Amino acid sequence: MTIDTYANRFVCDLVAYEPGKPIDETARELGLSPEQIVKVASNENPLGPSPLAKIAMREALEEAHIYPDGGGYRLRTAIAESVGMARENVIIGNGSNEIIELLCHTFLNRSTELIAAEHAFVVYKLMATLFGAKYIEVEDPGFVHDLDAMADAITADTRLVFIANPNNPTGTMVDQEAIDRFIKRLPEHVIAVFDEAYIEFPAEAPDTLRYVREGRNVCVLRTFSKIHGLAGLRVGYGLAPAHLADILQKARQPFNVNAIAQAGAIAALADKEHASNTRQLNLEGMAFYEAAFKVRGLEYVPSHANFVLVKTGDGDRVFAEMLKQGVIVRAMRGYKLPDWIRISIGTRSQNERCLEVLDSVIHTA
Ligand SMILES: *Cc1c(COP(=O)(O)O)cnc(C)c1O
Repeated sequence: MTIDTYANRFVCDLVAYEPGKPIDETARELGLSPEQIVKVASNENPLGPSPLAKIAMREALEEAHIYPDGGGYRLRTAIAESVGMARENVIIGNGSNEIIELLCHTFLNRSTELIAAEHAFVVYKLMATLFGAKYIEVEDPGFVHDLDAMADAITADTRLVFIANPNNPTGTMVDQEAIDRFIKRLPEHVIAVFDEAYIEFPAEAPDTLRYVREGRNVCVLRTFSKIHGLAGLRVGYGLAPAHLADILQKARQPFNVNAIAQAGAIAALADKEHASNTRQLNLEGMAFYEAAFKVRGLEYVPSHANFVLVKTGDGDRVFAEMLKQGVIVRAMRGYKLPDWIRISIGTRSQNERCLEVLDSVIHTA
């Protein structure tokens, strides 16, 4: 018998998250330099970090020997101001993924359930599994979350319902009416979690913050990883009624967001220009891909985010063939979509290169 026998079963049984293939690893395997690789696999910002964030982070480096502000006073205040709430409503995390974990750590155990949509972000399932909870998957016809069906699925054991809006990997969004109807039906023992990692990309997005302000059991998750271009820093946040945010605070490590990340995030939040440039580039790139897919008769899911799901047939093969030519996309078998790939919208030249390589791969099929 090895020590493994004594490990928590929920941890051992976990199928690990498979991130987008790193640029360095790909370059090493292909014998290329990293500059020759196009990575459009993790919905990162093709314009890079906010320039204001870079300046703030360089300054923060000088103080790197000092522990960060564990309470995140300045960052939480800046976030609160940006959404018209109080600092007590804000919890910061090592990426918004950490807030997902804190929610699960706080509310799940073996006798509880988490509800999510069939093609929802896969981390919800991983976290439910990690805490031994039952994972309930609700069908999402046309890849759109069916909030009525998700409300129907709630039982006495349900604690968390995750709604990714817009969702990753589908890019679809639920509207205000559906959300309002869902919240009306939300029982007191359940928290609705709106994961809004891509909420800055759609021209118009539903308002979920009103429910936090009203003190409903609602937690809204946002991140600096996408529109602000700070994925490598790992910083995100949750917005919740103060009593809920307080409990989540207890579940985190004392210094969960590092000092460089806090400084970068504060500056990024104020950088409206970088955000609007990113949005504009994304709109143009999305239009480019949609037009290209139409011409080629490729089925795709109209997206409100900074990536698009396209049906290429055998996504594993398309991923592998594209990889050989230095373009990293994401295969979707893990999402039970073996015939699809997900492409993150890049710069104009990245988009053109990606399409060219996709063409060469599909035509040899
Ligand atoms: C990218 C993404 C996040 C952000 O994760 P971070 O930990 O903040 O980098 C959260 N939710 C979804 C659905 C995402 O796609």
